[in-house]
Amino acid sequence: MSERKIPLAGVIGTPIAHSKSPRLHGHWLRRYGINGHYIPMDVASQDLEDAIRMLPKLGFVGVNVTIPHKEHVMTLADLVSDRAALIGSVNTLIFRADGKIHGDNTDGYGFIENLRQGAPDWDPAAGPAAVIGAGGAARAVLSSLLDVGVPEIRLSNRTKNRAEALQREFGQRIQVFDWVQAGNMFDGAMTVVNASSLGMDGAPEMRIPLDGLSPDAVVTDLVYTPLETSLLAHARSIGCRTVDGLGMLLFQAAPGFERWFGLQPDVDEKLRQAVLL
Ligand code: NAP
Repeated sequence: MSERKIPLAGVIGTPIAHSKSPRLHGHWLRRYGINGHYIPMDVASQDLEDAIRMLPKLGFVGVNVTIPHKEHVMTLADLVSDRAALIGSVNTLIFRADGKIHGDNTDGYGFIENLRQGAPDWDPAAGPAAVIGAGGAARAVLSSLLDVGVPEIRLSNRTKNRAEALQREFGQRIQVFDWVQAGNMFDGAMTVVNASSLGMDGAPEMRIPLDGLSPDAVVTDLVYTPLETSLLAHARSIGCRTVDGLGMLLFQAAPGFERWFGLQPDVDEKLRQAVLL
């Protein structure tokens, strides 16, 4: 009788030592008693294609892809999901039994599910959203907010032309605000998102005036080190519902785990604690 292969998955990036994904998937593998492994792999850009082609032959059922390979890897996939095409990058690869490589991007899904779990009465259609930042993460935020029916998105970024490029791409529901007037975005905004790296440990603090923020707004920060950024602390102090960024990381991992290991994993407090250790 032939033994079933032990399924392997992992994360490819460089550097990779800081990645929380091995701890996250390792927790789920142990918790559900799955005989599989999830491995961090430091792969340089010039080796990416060779590595991706070799992994299925080694028993890998898929991988996560992180900085700096998320755009490049899109060109190596045979099929790309609509949401990955819209976001313009891939963070999850599935190596299918027929030999085809399927690329997906689960960041927008993770972002929305985190908001839904952290603020269960959040209504995306309740009013405009205000988004800070125009990098890779902002693309996932914009496409998923539009998808769930936010009527208007106000967008501001230090480098204005990057925000304008997103407006051209994502359309009329995006309005670009000058960086020096970014505080005006919060007036009447019902969803507020920091999708920039401001406020992250080691990065400058966010200095956008927050006095226009309404207590009715749901405020979330993609930065999760620290867990409570000054944006979230201020929002909480005036009575806003706040949602930290760690849950986005947890939720974006779930669709990959389910495709690779065949089980829909729970995103709960035990997982948060395992990842925070
Ligand atoms: P990115 O593509 O490098 O974009 C960085 C963004 O931050 C750009 O909008 C950039 O503005 C802005 N920024 C950086 N330094 C700034 C400064 N000193 N002043 C003003 N703006 C500044 O990075 P990303 O992938 O979009 O990630 C953004 C943040 O989200 C990071 O902190 C990342 O850790 C976090 N993130 C979290 C999750 C999660 O699961 N929670 C997922 C993805 C990302 P310019 O365009 O002007 O440079």
